[in-house]
Amino acid sequence: MTAVNKNSSNILLIYTGGTIGMLREKGSKSLKAFNFDQLLSKIPELKLLDHNIDTISFDKPMDSSDMGIKEYQQLAETIFHNYELYDGFVVLHGSDTMAYTASVLSFMLENLAKPIIFTGSQLPIGDLRTDAKENLITSIQIAGLKQNNKSVIREVGLYFEYKLYRGNRTSKINAEHFEAFDSPNYPPLTESGVHLKINENFILKIKRKKPLILHKELEDHLLLLKLFPGLSQDMFAHLLNIKDIKGIIIETFGSGNYKTEDWFINGLKSKIENEIPVVNITQCLGGQVQMGKYYNSEKLEQIGVISGNDITTEAAIAKMMFLLPKKLNYEVFKTIFETSIRGEITEEI
Ligand code: ASP
Repeated sequence: MTAVNKNSSNILLIYTGGTIGMLREKGSKSLKAFNFDQLLSKIPELKLLDHNIDTISFDKPMDSSDMGIKEYQQLAETIFHNYELYDGFVVLHGSDTMAYTASVLSFMLENLAKPIIFTGSQLPIGDLRTDAKENLITSIQIAGLKQNNKSVIREVGLYFEYKLYRGNRTSKINAEHFEAFDSPNYPPLTESGVHLKINENFILKIKRKKPLILHKELEDHLLLLKLFPGLSQDMFAHLLNIKDIKGIIIETFGSGNYKTEDWFINGLKSKIENEIPVVNITQCLGGQVQMGKYYNSEKLEQIGVISGNDITTEAAIAKMMFLLPKKLNYEVFKTIFETSIRGEITEEI
């Protein structure tokens, strides 16, 4: 493949499914994914872009609720095998689980030096009031941005409604608004208005160019436990006793607090003693866990619970899926989890 002019980039557009490419079939009231060629014919504007765009589609485009480890692997492999051929990648994906997939991909692809931009839409591309066109066109432009022959964005991003965020910092926050995503603990990487404003300081820096590494193995025996005031001792014990749990994420209140009762603390302690990582993340959309700030989180810190700091739930799950197959001992797992490896967490200074 050759670039047609100095400013043009080679972009691979990967279609996985989602509302962007869905249609309402006659006689049905629900949306269903449709063929990719039909999708492209709905955006003639793509031909006006300076970039060379190749496309590839999942055999069966899907609602993103159906995505799982198999699809993460398929997507990561597609990018890995095409990495040298393209300057950037745009992934069309359903918005429901986009923040999860973007987070997982950020861990699976180590030493990434090119953009992988996730986007989608709240309304199908065929809809008169669709948000799909702007999302897709600007995503391609961002993926194609180069300076001194190097990609400007060198990480996994998520573009939606005029903002590009770091993918592993995002959460879907609204099921109806066009502004469906937020990144409460990290500023946008670019903002699109009359001009495309690039927030250089927030883009992931690469120290030295190293070959891309694909981490294909992921673990799905995780337990995510959103704690609530009336959780019963029985239920908690029951959940912790589920066979084959390899890692536990607890979503606590505020800055990492929950009950100080023995049944809660000892339940978690026994898991930690058996080398099962327990990570504490907050239920709040923004802010961070600070174990020890209140009496109600002191004991968690003392028994060795790992701090998720300001990581999102999506990125915590992704990081655990990625780290567990590495079979690290508890202390090493804890140190790596509490360290930023893809810009997913704000490290304590
Ligand atoms: N249910 C759709 C999906 O996640 C919603 C969307 O694309 O916005 O695939």
